[in-house]
Amino acid sequence: MNNQPVDLFIIGGGINGVGVARDAAGRGASVMLCEKDDLAEGTSSRTTKFIHGGLRYLEQFEFRLVKKALIEREVILQIAPHISYPLRLVLINNGKIRNPLKIRSGLFLYDNLAGRRKIPPTDKVNLRTSPEGTEIKDSFKNGYGYWDLWSDDARMVILNARDAVMHGAQIMTRTEFVKAEPVDDFWLISIRDKSTGILKQVRAKTLFDATGPWLKSNTIKIEGLQRPDDLRLVQGSHIILKKWWQGNHAYVLQHFDNRIVFVVPYLDNFAIVGTTERDLQGPIEEARITHSEKEYLLDMLNNHFKKQFEVDDIISSYSGVRPLFDRERGKNRSQVTRDYHLEFNLVQGKLPVISAYGGKLTTYRVLAEDAMAILEPYMPDLTCAWTSTKPLPGGDIPEGDFNLWFKDFNKKFGSLGEPLISHLGSTYGIEALAILQGVTSTTDLGINFGGNFYEKEALWLIENEMPKTANDILFRRTKHGLFLTSIERKNFENWVADRL
Ligand SMILES: Cc1cc2nc3c(=O)[nH]c(=O)nc-3n(C[C@H](O)[C@H](O)[C@H](O)COP(=O)(O)OP(=O)(O)OC[C@H]3O[C@@H](n4cnc5c(N)ncnc54)[C@H](O)[C@@H]3O)c2cc1C
Repeated sequence: MNNQPVDLFIIGGGINGVGVARDAAGRGASVMLCEKDDLAEGTSSRTTKFIHGGLRYLEQFEFRLVKKALIEREVILQIAPHISYPLRLVLINNGKIRNPLKIRSGLFLYDNLAGRRKIPPTDKVNLRTSPEGTEIKDSFKNGYGYWDLWSDDARMVILNARDAVMHGAQIMTRTEFVKAEPVDDFWLISIRDKSTGILKQVRAKTLFDATGPWLKSNTIKIEGLQRPDDLRLVQGSHIILKKWWQGNHAYVLQHFDNRIVFVVPYLDNFAIVGTTERDLQGPIEEARITHSEKEYLLDMLNNHFKKQFEVDDIISSYSGVRPLFDRERGKNRSQVTRDYHLEFNLVQGKLPVISAYGGKLTTYRVLAEDAMAILEPYMPDLTCAWTSTKPLPGGDIPEGDFNLWFKDFNKKFGSLGEPLISHLGSTYGIEALAILQGVTSTTDLGINFGGNFYEKEALWLIENEMPKTANDILFRRTKHGLFLTSIERKNFENWVADRL
């Protein structure tokens, strides 16, 4: 057993767990985090990849949530300008579903609730004359343009985890939380290394449960806590298609069930379409898109776009599970709040534990600040809040102007080819300079594993980003896995097996 108790033990390496780890470690707390799989392997890599205010939540009068999330758009763009960028969304008007006056009022609030610095304002779009309307069916005449942020969700998790480690946190992946018991003045926490099966015990002053959809099964392992009955698990699925429209904008489509579906450009050549919503049936790990979810999304596309789609056009799909905080049972799934709730308990009147319910990728940083405000009295030497101004690793770009920085980066390394430079710049920001140190031609990058993936990048990832399997690298730290053939993936697995 580790003799020295840590200030904070965190269960779960999704965005909320690593966000709290980064915040706490940066304030001087000793922090330990365990994740049963890989970082971001749960819900946090299965999102629509928006850092957004959530225009739709205004209909539910969630002004507090929308304002908080709108503020975060600007903050995230400031601290992670390499993995986020403003994305224009074109909302297709359909007066039979929503009154245009209601949409205009919503957009006015969206523009003005929280103030904007870098995010452009909304505008009206004539679909008949604008290039953004070229692919849309003639029956739709107009729409509205507004802006949110696109962000690489999995890298947001990895970068928060790395920064937490840089501030002294200990992060253990493929390590499962087994139980926590109050012993004397501390939590005695049992964890199991999944690769060796070895059980280990650590002591902690405070405990934070960030297991998202897995909250129910973990709460019962924390002695003194009741199994929560106000967590609702809702599956959401996305399909990936080949991109079929010109331009970098996304579309927002309205359904007669009052839901909206996003159509978002992805990795230059692809489009993500989602999401659906259905109460989860079966184990979280087995959440997969159903035939009716595919049909729902394809129907939405076929109702709005001139091009028509069928199931065979779907290249890939992914499903995630939202852990919604649902204290008012019986609400329609879409109406259950997307805001987070931090449930605080003092077990035996002295041992603090927080369970995090719900939330959004967008609001992870403020969730962490709120958690620290609750835990502060139990860790008296903490310094003050800091994460809203300190860039994530690679994001310390001069004046936060990614485009300007990229021009310079491209000048230096453009001879390696635009696709490679663009991938490295938008994945690693200024840390790409470390990967390219001493590189003057692609031969200096070592083995090519396929596409834009070279040995130098893989070695840097192994050294810096805590991967334990080939897929950790191919699908979460990067998306190279989507571009490699099955033979290339196998070759990479063999290469990496000796090095992890
Ligand atoms: C379809 C969909 C689309 C979404 N789109 C957006 C969006 O565009 N923008 C946005 O802001 N939000 C979006 N969200 C919401 C957002 O994804 C979630 O709020 C967020 O990812 C939740 O993060 P988390 O850390 O709480 O959970 P998770 O990411 O699920 O992390 C929990 C972690 O706990 C680990 N764990 C569980 N049990 C144990 C154990 N016993 N021991 C150790 N580890 C354990 C799991 O392996 C998992 O990695 C979307 C959600 C869904 C489902």
